[in-house]
Amino acid sequence: MDPAPDVKIGNKDVCELEYKPWWSTGLHFSCLGCGRCCRGEPGAIWISEENIAAASGVMDLEPADFQRIFVTRRWKRPSLREKPNGDCVMYERESARCGIYAVRPAQCSLFPFWPSILGSRVKWERTSAECPGIGQGRFYNAGEIAALLEQSPFPDL
Ligand code: SF4
Repeated sequence: MDPAPDVKIGNKDVCELEYKPWWSTGLHFSCLGCGRCCRGEPGAIWISEENIAAASGVMDLEPADFQRIFVTRRWKRPSLREKPNGDCVMYERESARCGIYAVRPAQCSLFPFWPSILGSRVKWERTSAECPGIGQGRFYNAGEIAALLEQSPFPDL
């Protein structure tokens, strides 16, 4: 069998090139508090056992009661319920705030630095059409973005 031909980019062998994700030069994001990600279309708001324990403490409920009242299952994981209009059950329209903001699910606090959104620039830009905070405000460097990705509780988030 013939040896694999050398593939060069510039004067470098391809194998020497370091892989850099598309976001390696950093991204801007600041939440503007518009609440769009908490309202509207139904979806999954996955919540971990740790978040359930913390949220039930804030609401002065037993974790089992919190779970019975506010948690359902979506795609085989515990997920916060939604109101009939699609809003997250914890979203308060009057104040446009999350009722458990300080102890909200990791899915919410990590948004939009999710593996599924950071998977490509196209997905990031598509998400920016729904979230006005994407692309402005605070600058996150590659190290910060990688650290946030590592905190993702689910690889398919
Ligand atoms: S849609 Fe974006 S800007 Fe609006 S509340 Fe959610 S994260 Fe913040």
